[in-house]
Amino acid sequence: MSKMVVEPRIRGFISLTSHPEGCAANVRRQVDVAKVGGRGEGLGNVLVVGSSQGYGLSTLLTAVFGYGANLLGVCFEKEPTETKTGTAGWYNLVEAHRLAEVEGRQLSTINGDAFSDAVKRTVVRELKERFGPLELLVYSLAAPRRVDAEGVVWNSTLKPLGERYTGKAFDLRHHKVIDAALEPASDEEVASTVKVMGGEDWRDWIELLREEGLLAAGFRTVAYSYIGPEVSAAIYRRGTIGRAKEHLEATGIELNRELSTDGGGAWVSINKGVVTQASSAIPAVPLYISAVFKVMKEREIHEGTIEQIVRLFHDHLAPGKTPRTDDEHRIRLDDLEMLPEVQAAVAERWDSIDDDTLYELTDYAGFRRDFEQLFGFEVDGVDYSAATEVNQALELVVIED
Ligand code: NAD
Repeated sequence: MSKMVVEPRIRGFISLTSHPEGCAANVRRQVDVAKVGGRGEGLGNVLVVGSSQGYGLSTLLTAVFGYGANLLGVCFEKEPTETKTGTAGWYNLVEAHRLAEVEGRQLSTINGDAFSDAVKRTVVRELKERFGPLELLVYSLAAPRRVDAEGVVWNSTLKPLGERYTGKAFDLRHHKVIDAALEPASDEEVASTVKVMGGEDWRDWIELLREEGLLAAGFRTVAYSYIGPEVSAAIYRRGTIGRAKEHLEATGIELNRELSTDGGGAWVSINKGVVTQASSAIPAVPLYISAVFKVMKEREIHEGTIEQIVRLFHDHLAPGKTPRTDDEHRIRLDDLEMLPEVQAAVAERWDSIDDDTLYELTDYAGFRRDFEQLFGFEVDGVDYSAATEVNQALELVVIED
């Protein structure tokens, strides 16, 4: 037993601690939304790569509790010890596994580096021994680095291309609106970011599973991407990460040519900007998200990860549905965020946002609450003054040597 009172220890865009009860409550809330929005059974065997947080966690919960999927997840989380909390994703999955067991659902987790051969081989073994061929693979990795088969380390960077970036941003450490500046990326940094966040690893997964005979007839695969507004374009869509996302989207089109038989295929889904650990780390994005949340909440069209993913399955991926796409073969879950009137309202207030107007012109309070909730803090109904068991066990699939 290792009970302790857990308090947030936030350092910029990360908290060094996570609250087990708060994470569990977040998962239960998402499961409730998934059950109301889901359509019952029939999704079959699903693999989610990046299954413990953000969009991947919501995908796992929607597939299992909204559509009765048998689910194998891959994530990269830190387990707790007697004296230290685990990462939020660990506690999210402890609760997801508990609920799956109560309801007699099949949910297994592999905690290891999704880029590695060992984890890929373990997935193959698990599918052969316990699941069978896959109906759906969702690729939802947001990773800072990749170690390739030769041991070379590739880092993902967030930099502009061609020229220096200057623009408004938010300093999460000091809660201040600042002017940020970033030097342009080198060619190596662009190539390295594409290697981590582009489509190569997604393709590696599909090719391996196809060679092993583990893609069911009508197999589908989806990866997540983002476009976002003009105010973040220099640093996001027209920057290093944008190059990686273009590569991911091009990979989706190529994979679709190879897989589009029996109703199957490959798609990239462009999701809405939301508060996750990955998005909080991008300059200008927390401020933009605060502004767009304000505008979307005023119009009652705001969504978080679970609402987005319930919509993805309901409208595009549910058994019998055919994904609807734009001219570039992309599913557009960002349709409400990108409405011209929403973007115009954000652009109109953007220049006036400063420390004095932050709470009036943006939903920074909502951003902050969502951010703390990522780590299980600020969740309604949780008694943060009570000692809680931090050393919670999670039954994991053993990774091959
Ligand atoms: P996140 O940080 O919330 O979650 C990332 C997941 O990846 C976690 O489950 C983590 O354990 C896993 N992961 C990271 N490195 C790993 C590794 N080496 N091996 C195995 N698992 C690993 O991220 P997110 O914001 O949900 O992003 C997921 C995808 O959604 C990304 O492609 C992102 O670009 C896209 N997306 C995000 C937003 C947004 O606003 N957050 C918007 C649109 C699209």
